[in-house]
Amino acid sequence: MIKTENLTKEYNGSKAVDGLNLEIAEGEIFGFLGPNGAGKSTTILMLVGMIEPTEGRCTINGIDVMRNPFEVKRIIGYLPENAGFYGHKTATQNLDYFARFYGMNTEERNKRIQELLELVHLEDVKQKAGEYSKGMLQRLGFAQALLNDPKVLFLDEPTANLDPEGVIEFRNWIKRLSEEGKTIFLSSHILAEVSRTCKTIGIITKGKMVAKGNLDEIRAKLGQDKTINIIIETAGAIPEFHHHDIMRAEYDGNKAQICAKSDIRDEISDYLFKSGIRIRGMRVETPSLEDIYLEGVNVKDEWTA
Ligand code: ADP
Repeated sequence: MIKTENLTKEYNGSKAVDGLNLEIAEGEIFGFLGPNGAGKSTTILMLVGMIEPTEGRCTINGIDVMRNPFEVKRIIGYLPENAGFYGHKTATQNLDYFARFYGMNTEERNKRIQELLELVHLEDVKQKAGEYSKGMLQRLGFAQALLNDPKVLFLDEPTANLDPEGVIEFRNWIKRLSEEGKTIFLSSHILAEVSRTCKTIGIITKGKMVAKGNLDEIRAKLGQDKTINIIIETAGAIPEFHHHDIMRAEYDGNKAQICAKSDIRDEISDYLFKSGIRIRGMRVETPSLEDIYLEGVNVKDEWTA
């Protein structure tokens, strides 16, 4: 449904998006995860036809976004990071303004706008958009993105301005829209957001995709070279242990946490035994997805998607 080939965007000679190859199937909820400045918004802007790629191409439902931007716009909805509206218009007037672009007649527009305002709980709000809170603007943005009942929905950091209740409700909307068969592309820098909502995840850093797959696949991919955390507790103070596979170590009296490239528990045991220090406990921690994400963000070599 969404496909990019070598999608690249350069700003002043530096690549904001660098050779992105992506394929997202119909009905998928895809989480586009990466730290701020990774290239998420730039990718979305190219996918929705608002900026031109420097190189490469993207298609939505087989339609080339650059060649047929209007055809693409008919089947997509887009919620930007900070949705902008006419401050002097009400929610209804703002939505009506956008609905006219889709060529809906008055009756269709009124019906759709009423439905959507009810969905986002703005149906009884009389204020003009200029007086809205950020959360209300986000809700209105969500309604706007759904005006044309799109097949594909692009959501850029959609929960950034919502309160906790709003976030939960938003997740339910996404679930429902996905059950209706919509393809959803959700970008976020928050791991928990993406891992709760999305079935497949792509991690982007510095314009490049470093991993893609479902949560387990990402764990396996980024975890294969993963360092292991060894937690040790001893009867006496632990003397510092040196080994070429140790990446980091923290010593705190009779406790230590050693992060190593390989499982060096045997070597640690030998060393402590020779030093005459009794081991009370030694365990290995499996990396949380948070660790993996942070590690992925720091991965130097490119992982292919
Ligand atoms: P994200 O959405 O992941 O936070 P962006 O796509 O906004 O990241 O930005 C990616 C990189 O491109 C950043 O280094 C940003 O400064 C740069 N960038 C984005 N838009 C522009 C622009 N219009 N002109 C110049 N640089 C830009």
